[in-house]
Amino acid sequence: MRVTVLGTGAADGVPQPFCRCDTCADARARGQVRAPGGVLIDSTLLVDPAPAVGAAAARAGVDLSQVTTIAISHGHADHWDPAILLFRQWIADGNGPGALPPLRVIGPAAVIASAADWVAPGGSVEFLPAVAGGCWQLDGLNLRAITSTHGLVSAPGSEADPVAAAAVLFDVRDAHGTAVLYAADTGPPDADLLGDVAGASYDLALVELTFGASGPTTAGHLDHATFPRALAELRRVGAINADTDVVAIHLSHHHPPAPELHAALASWGARAVADGTTLEPLAETAPRAADTLTSTTNRTTLVTGGARSGKSTFAEQLAGNASDVLYLATGWPRGALGDDDWDERLAAHVARRPSRWRTREWSAMSPADLGAALTAAPPGSTVIIDCLALWLTRLIDAVAGWDEAAGLGTGSAAATTVTDGCEALLAGLATTAAGHVIMVTNEVGSGVVPATASGRFFRDQLGRVNARVAGLCSEVYLVVAGRALPLTAPYQEFHG
Ligand SMILES: [Zn+2]
Ligand SMILES: [Zn+2]
Repeated sequence: MRVTVLGTGAADGVPQPFCRCDTCADARARGQVRAPGGVLIDSTLLVDPAPAVGAAAARAGVDLSQVTTIAISHGHADHWDPAILLFRQWIADGNGPGALPPLRVIGPAAVIASAADWVAPGGSVEFLPAVAGGCWQLDGLNLRAITSTHGLVSAPGSEADPVAAAAVLFDVRDAHGTAVLYAADTGPPDADLLGDVAGASYDLALVELTFGASGPTTAGHLDHATFPRALAELRRVGAINADTDVVAIHLSHHHPPAPELHAALASWGARAVADGTTLEPLAETAPRAADTLTSTTNRTTLVTGGARSGKSTFAEQLAGNASDVLYLATGWPRGALGDDDWDERLAAHVARRPSRWRTREWSAMSPADLGAALTAAPPGSTVIIDCLALWLTRLIDAVAGWDEAAGLGTGSAAATTVTDGCEALLAGLATTAAGHVIMVTNEVGSGVVPATASGRFFRDQLGRVNARVAGLCSEVYLVVAGRALPLTAPYQEFHG
C-alpha cells in the first residue's frame, strides 16, 4: 500500500504564522512546514482533503486524477474543504484530457449534506453518510469507519461541538491484508474505539498528536500525556504492535522544536515524517518485492558528505519503511586498539537501525567481497553500504598499503588493490538484483593537501572511487550540516 501523507500539520500548522515561539522559530530556520493536507492511499482514496490539498499533492509529486473516494473524518475546516469538488468538476466537465472516474464522498451526514451543494445536479458523485461501523468496498481497498472521541468535552456539562461529536476515524485495508489506521481527530480512546480496533495489528497507524507537554490542551485531542497512554491502550488490545509504524500527524506548534519532538516520539515508539512523505506499509502476509523478480527498480543512491554531517542518518531515512534491508557495515570495532570513541559511534549507529534490518558487519567479510555481497543481495531488497571510505581504508589495510616505503604509485600493490576492489564493486552494482542500493561515502578532497604520501594517496583514491560510483548512480546527494542537497546528473543542464 502506498500512503502519501500530504500534510502533517494541525489547523494552524507549524510554523504558526502569528507566532515566534522556539518551535515556530526552529521550523522557520529549518524551512520545515507542517500544514493540514490529508492522506492519499494507493492513488484512489483521499482522506481528509484540507483547503491546500492541491498544492500539497503537487509538492508531494502526486496528482488526484485517480481518486475515486474521498473519505472525510469530520467537518472541521482543516479536514474538509468542499471546494475540491468544484475544482474536480471543472475537469470532469471536459476541460481536461481524459474522463475522470466516478467519485464517492463518504463522511458524517451533516458534512455530506452540505458537500452535495458543491456538485452540479446529475453529476457522477455519490454521497454516502458515515457512522462508526460503516464499511465500504472500494477499488482494491476496504474502508471502515470507526469510533472517534474528538467530541469529548473538557469540562463536564460544557456544550459539545456537534461537528467533533460526529467525527469518525478510518481503518483501511488492501487485498493483501495490509492495514492502516487513520486516527485524526480524536481524544483518548474509549471502550468503543478500542473495541473497533482490537486485534487489528495495523502495519501503519497515523495518530493525531495536537497538543504538547504543557500549554493548551483539550479532551478531544491528544497531547504529550495522553498520546503515549493512547498508544499503550492500542498495544494492549493488539491494535498496534512492535512492527507497527506509528506516525504522529495533526502536529501543532505546541510541541517542542523538532529534535526534542523526535526524541519524545521515539521514546513512545512513534515518529514524525515531513509533509509529502510516502509510506509503504506491508502486511507480513503480503507478497514481498523479493518474491517477484519483475518488481526490482534498481535505484542506486550515493550519499557523500563530511564527518558528522548527518549522511548516515539521511541514508537510513532513504531506506524509509523498506521491509527487506541488508545493512553492510564497513566500520569495525577498534576497542582493541584503544579507540573507544570509535566503538561508541559504531554502537550508536547499530542502535539506530530498526531490528528488522539484517546487518552484515564488516569483520565477517573480506573487504574485496563488497561487490560479491551486492551480487548476492536478494532481489528487490534494499542494501545500505556505510561507508565506502572505511571500506577503502580496510582494502588498503589488507595489503599494508599505508607503508609509504613500499610505494603508492601506479602499479604498486596498494594502487592495484584499490583498482581491483573498485572494479568488483562496480560489477556488483551493475549486476545486483537489489531494488535500491544506498551507499554512504566521505567527502575528503576539499581540505588542505595531506602532509603524508599515504594521506594524499587515500584522498585521491577515494575521490576516484566516489566519482566512478556516482557515475553508476541514479541519485547523488551531498549532505552538509544535516541538509541533503541533490546533485544534478552530469551535464544534465546541457542535454536539457
Ligand atoms: Zn477537528
Ligand atoms: Zn483537525
